Order: sequence, then structure tokens, then C-alpha cells
Amino acid sequence: MAALRHSLGAVEAEGSASSQGSSAVEMVLPSDPAAPAPLCPHGPTLLFVKVSQGKEETRRFYACSACRDRKDCNFFQWEDEKLSGARLAAREAHNRRCQPPLSRMQCVERYLTFIELPLSQRKFCQRCQQLLLPDDWGKHREHPVVGDVSVAQLKRPSQLLSPLENKKTNAQYLFADRSCQFLIDLLSTLGFRRVLCVGTPRLHELIRLKASDDNKSNIKSLLLDIDFRYSQFYMEDSFCHYNMFNHHFFDGEAALEVCRTFLQEDQGEGVIMVTDPPFGGLVEPLAITFKKLIAMWKKGQSQDNNHKELPIFWIFPYFFESRICQFFPSFRMLDYQAVIILFFLDLQVASTFKRFHRRFICVDEAMKYGCMLEVDYDNHALYKHGKTGRKQSPVRIFTNVSPDKIILPVEEGYRFCPLCQRYVSRENQHCEHCDSCTSKDGRKWNHCFLCKKCVKPSWIHCSICNHCALPDHSCKGPKDGCFICGELDHKRSTCPNISTSKKVNKLAHRWQGLWTPLCSLAPGVCTWRHQRQLTAACVISVPPDNLGKHVARLTHSSPFK
Ligand code: SAH
Ligand code: ZN
Ligand code: ZN
Ligand code: ZN
Ligand code: ZN
Repeated sequence: MAALRHSLGAVEAEGSASSQGSSAVEMVLPSDPAAPAPLCPHGPTLLFVKVSQGKEETRRFYACSACRDRKDCNFFQWEDEKLSGARLAAREAHNRRCQPPLSRMQCVERYLTFIELPLSQRKFCQRCQQLLLPDDWGKHREHPVVGDVSVAQLKRPSQLLSPLENKKTNAQYLFADRSCQFLIDLLSTLGFRRVLCVGTPRLHELIRLKASDDNKSNIKSLLLDIDFRYSQFYMEDSFCHYNMFNHHFFDGEAALEVCRTFLQEDQGEGVIMVTDPPFGGLVEPLAITFKKLIAMWKKGQSQDNNHKELPIFWIFPYFFESRICQFFPSFRMLDYQAVIILFFLDLQVASTFKRFHRRFICVDEAMKYGCMLEVDYDNHALYKHGKTGRKQSPVRIFTNVSPDKIILPVEEGYRFCPLCQRYVSRENQHCEHCDSCTSKDGRKWNHCFLCKKCVKPSWIHCSICNHCALPDHSCKGPKDGCFICGELDHKRSTCPNISTSKKVNKLAHRWQGLWTPLCSLAPGVCTWRHQRQLTAACVISVPPDNLGKHVARLTHSSPFK
């Protein structure tokens, strides 16, 4: 999807051909695979090409694999560009400067010192997002500091770290504890003993918490994540600073070895990889990375297990189904709707509509996924199920674990379909013509006899296009769907996922009626304003004293109705 948004900033900044709305950026494979890609602070860059009006431009360029905002990483180099020695040296120096201030070893040492401190001396600086040792106190005197950091807090860094008004980053999407618990129970029922968590810090911490609380569960977990802040809380064998868009281990061979050992333990038996990449991420580089992890695991297999696949849960929005299955044909999409939570921190910033670091999803993005936001106060009771009845999240699990082994909770609205031999959402009805439970989005779909398949309930069969579409679609529309989101009712150039504010604006207007006035959900306490003149830029704003207090929850269905 956001193939497109990717690095657009970089292109524009280089002043290449004017990008008017319908341009996009796609990843391409280098013509010479042996030629190493230049490095940015986030490891090897990826090769991209700009596509305007469906046509590729000829000049290709390298840009950062991990950052979609040029402000986070402004690396840019034409594929055929030759750099002078001086520029290369400057780049190397820049890359070094951008690395975290502390080595992985230093972090571990600091952590060990920290846990030995008496409670009253254990402080955490919210501005710097850092655990402080007594020597550091002076430097952070002016900063908001949390004291008495307990062991329990140290075990839940995803809660401690939720950034306050620091950074230009505003929202991070984490699993609701309920969804996390579901995943953990599932993993243990399926008999897994090791979980490679790629971009799932909250899952990682809850697995470890459970393992230390209860002796029955001894699942081990290794977290690979680009969020360096986590290195303060974990030893080397449970966290690697990692970029999943280029399989780059920031701490080199030693970290790679940690990952390899983890995957290959017990000849690779009993391990699963669970990943929840940022939704803005490109599917292709992720698939390439995951294939490398799979290959690493395979190397540890005994000969007679050669046909086996590394079990994987890939958590991603449902409209990526065809993209994911293109790379991993054995994957199936489960009906389970993972609930994620948005922490909103600096919505002032969200309202300026900038693109943030990929790990954050912001208001406009939430809108694109068709999520309504509801306010929930207590950071710890993040998700209360069933306040307003129907809830839809677009987030699904894609997996090569056989769906008949995966029991979805009946009390959350799933049922077993004996014909499909899998759990489906209750509204997903078995279509006798398709011989399957066909709904992808949790609503009941209808069978169209002309299209010979089931379609979304809001679609009707168009005799001009000769297929089903939204009633107000344009008949001149494309036949083979949008490259960005895979939907059939528009092409890339008109995709609501393109990040030009014009497009988002349009979408905002379409969605205007559907936003719950947030204040009504928490009368008296909530000071969020629901701004009516939706420029999409300013959906909600929060006065500074309320920053960080609000937790919003994803609900409702996709805008791709
Ligand atoms: N739902 C998950 C969190 C998903 S948020 C949970 O609750 O555990 C996406 C995660 O991916 C974040 O932790 C973010 O730091 C990480 N991430 C973002 N970009 C990444 C990259 N390029 N490489 C590795 N991890 C990345
Ligand atoms: Zn970079
Ligand atoms: Zn059907
Ligand atoms: Zn039809
Ligand atoms: Zn689209």
C-alpha cells in the first residue's frame, strides 16, 4: 500500500519531476544483485523508482528502507550517481553519528546497575525516554522524571515508554492486552516454546511476564525491533536492535548470532515468528526479510525435516491478503480481528499532518484504515469490550499454521464452520455457491451470480463494468484493482491511501459523519475537541495538559466499503 508514500519526501526534495498527486514510489530490485546498496544510518538502503500516471520513470534511486519521512532519514542517491571520496566519508561520519549513543553492552551494564538500586533511586526520564543512573540525574533535573520505577514497571517497558510530549511522534499502535493474551494463549496451545517477536514489543513483554509469573508457561521470546529504547530493558539474548525492512542488525554479527541461535535451538523445533510491521510498510521488502529469517531457521533443521515451514503469524490489515499470499502462497488469513490501541500524545503535531517515524500511526492514518477512535481513560484497562456493540478492526493474522488448529474465542463472536474447518466471525456466512465462508471484513457478504463470487454488502453489480462495485463508482475505473490497497473500485492514482493532503481531505469528508464526537464518550473529563471543519489535518486536538492521558481505541470498519 504505502509503497507509494514511501520516500516521496526524498524525491520531492531532490526537485525531480513535479509530483502531482498521482505519483508514487515503488521498490525495485537492483539490476546487479551483487552491487551492494549504499548505507544510511538504518543499514542498506533500498532501490526505488518513481511511478507517475502508472509509468515508471527511468532514473532509479536509493533511499532509506525504514523511514518514510525525510525528516527521519534524508538519504538520497541516484542509482547511477558516483560519489566523491569526500562525500562518502561525510556520509560514513553521519551514519556513525546517528547510531545510538550507547552500545548494546553499555545498555546491559546500565540495566544491571539500575536494578540493583533501591527503589527510591530508580528514575526514568520521560523527555529522554531513558532510565537514569544517579550520575545522570543532574543532566535531567529540568526534565519530567518518573521516580520509584518498580520491577513491575521495568517488565512492561511498552507502558513506561509511551512517549509523552517529546518527539514529533505521536501515536504507537500496540495490541490491547486482550488481543495479546489471546495470542499468547494460542501460541501455548499450539505448543510453541520460542517466539521470535519481530516488531511486537508488547507481545514480547507479556510472554516474558507470563513466563516469570507462572511456572507452567516457559515460552521464551526474542524481540527484534528498530526501537532502540527497548535495549535499556533487555539483556542481549532477548532484544536485538533490528530493521525489518532490510534485515539489518545494528549490532552486527553478535546480534545476528543471537537471532540464529534462537531460531536454530532444538534443531528449529517449537519456534514461531510473530510479526506486526508498521502498516505503512512495503510488503515486498518485508517478504524478502522474512524469507531470510526462514532460511536462517532452515539451516538448523535436520535433513528429514526439510519439507517443513517456519510457522509464522504476520499481523497486517486484511486488504493486504493478495499481496501477502503472492509472496507466501501457503498463508491463510484468519478472521480474528486483532485490536490495537493508539496512544495519542501530541495531537498538535498530528494536526500538522507530517509523516512520522514508521512505527507510529497517526490520526490521519487511523482514518485511512477507517478506524474510529474512542477515548478510554485508564492506561491499564485499555480495552473494555462491548461498549458500543459492533466493533471492527481491519487487522488480521496471516499464517501458515493450519487454520483448523486455531480456535477463536466464541465469546468474542467467532464460530466454527464445519464445512471450512476453521473458525470464522459470526457474521461470516458460509456461501453454498462459493463453498466457503467468504467475508473478509467480518460483515456478511452477498453472492453475486454474475461475478460468480461473494462481494461486500454495499456493492451492486454494474452492467457497464461487468462486475460488482460501489453504487457511486466511476465506470471508467480500472479492471484490475488498485496497486496500493488492492481494492477493485479504484486505481492507484485515486487511492485514498495516497498521502497528499488533498486526497486525505476528500476521505475525511467522506468520513465526517462517522466520527464519534469523542467528548461524548467521556463527558466532563475529556477535553478533546472534535473539529467540524475536517481538514483531516485537525481531527482532534488535545490541550497540552492532557497530553498522554488519552488512549484511543480502534474500532469500526474499513473505509473501503
Ligand atoms: N502490536 C505490536 C506493536 C506493533 S507497532 C505489539 O503490541 O507488540 C510496530 C512495531 O514495529 C513497533 O514496535 C516499531 O518500533 C517496530 N518497527 C517499526 N519499524 C521497524 C523497522 N523498520 N524494523 C523493525 N521494527 C520496526
Ligand atoms: Zn535511513
Ligand atoms: Zn459466494
Ligand atoms: Zn457482480
Ligand atoms: Zn487504493
